[in-house]
Amino acid sequence: MYVHTEYLQFNTKNRYDTIHITPEVEEIVRESGIREGMVLVSAMHITAGVYVNDLESGLIVDIQEWLEKLAPYGQPYKHHQTGEDNGDAHLKRLLIGHQVILPITNGKLDLGTWEQVFYAEFDGQRKKRVIVKVMGER
Ligand code: ZN
Repeated sequence: MYVHTEYLQFNTKNRYDTIHITPEVEEIVRESGIREGMVLVSAMHITAGVYVNDLESGLIVDIQEWLEKLAPYGQPYKHHQTGEDNGDAHLKRLLIGHQVILPITNGKLDLGTWEQVFYAEFDGQRKKRVIVKVMGER
């Protein structure tokens, strides 16, 4: 098995952001030369996530509002007793998930018609990373 590892870096202007990263993942898969296998895309921070869904601006806002409803900002979370203010970000990350595994067939991401990959930031304005690990046969 061959393994190829790269990192994507983010430093979002806003506290919350959703970034479409399918082109970057596709490029890393292409560079890896792997023809058959899978790629792991995993947020390396406990206040950010990675998910697969539709690249449709209304739905992206719907997802953000759904998360805000389930894990609102500014609540008296116990986590804040440590001096942090990002309890909501930890919970939002649990809801959205922290990583995805995507199939590679014939050297390309083998996604469904409407499947796209997103980085979801819940406590931004600082440097964050996503690991992209491509595994398989060349
Ligand atoms: Zn925290």
